[in-house]
Amino acid sequence: MRVKIVAGNWKMNNDMKASKSLVKKVGKSIKNNPLNNTRVIVAPTFVNLERVVKKAKKSAIEIAAQNMHFEESGAYTGEISAKMLKSIGVNTVILGHSERREYFGETDQLLAKKVNTALANELEVIFCFGEVLADRKSNNHFNVVESQIKNGLFHLEANAWTRIILAYEPVWAIGTGETASPEQAQEMHDFIRKIVAKRYSQEIADEVSILYGGSVKPSNAQEIFSKPDVDGGLIGGAALSAEDFKAIIDAI
Ligand code: PEP
Repeated sequence: MRVKIVAGNWKMNNDMKASKSLVKKVGKSIKNNPLNNTRVIVAPTFVNLERVVKKAKKSAIEIAAQNMHFEESGAYTGEISAKMLKSIGVNTVILGHSERREYFGETDQLLAKKVNTALANELEVIFCFGEVLADRKSNNHFNVVESQIKNGLFHLEANAWTRIILAYEPVWAIGTGETASPEQAQEMHDFIRKIVAKRYSQEIADEVSILYGGSVKPSNAQEIFSKPDVDGGLIGGAALSAEDFKAIIDAI
């Protein structure tokens, strides 16, 4: 049975004190609440990762990184490797976020390399993709999403898919307050499952968790999560408030 996941991407927010306090609050809030086949993940910025990992140890929260480099090690000033993440107890990494693609020029080809390095180091990958508004307006969104998934992931062997989580994040809905309708999310998630089934197998397609991301908040989470192919959310803004994040976890 595929797993439901609520993941919070803190982006470049929260200093050390705020990060520790937020993870503590979220941990407390889910403590007495059985999670029922649901994983809760938060992704702080690099400098706070180790402390947040320690702080979250006794809770059900898992910690992810927001990025990593594709090389194992070497002269890459300012970069962080997969092994460094593993060495501090991080087991999941977000790759392909639209902000990385847009502001840091991350291409499908580069992301495919990052995916390979992450998996080679036994990291699990939350792989993000999604169309910009112009693609949706010109009805090109299915093609864009298919090519991002194909280029980033379809070179993988079937057995790698147990360590892949997909996150459909229409760029026009990220941080804009505008959300894809539950029907738009379901339509795309169904399409994604079909292309994974075609390339691999129905079993793999049925097992992979597909998260929706883009202005999910307590007021809309339940409706989005009620769709059969939406297995949870990747949450930006609303993950910065323990109360809102908890309400979104409850919605699942
Ligand atoms: C995100 O950046 O992954 C995201 C979904 O952000 P927000 O929830 O703020 O739209």
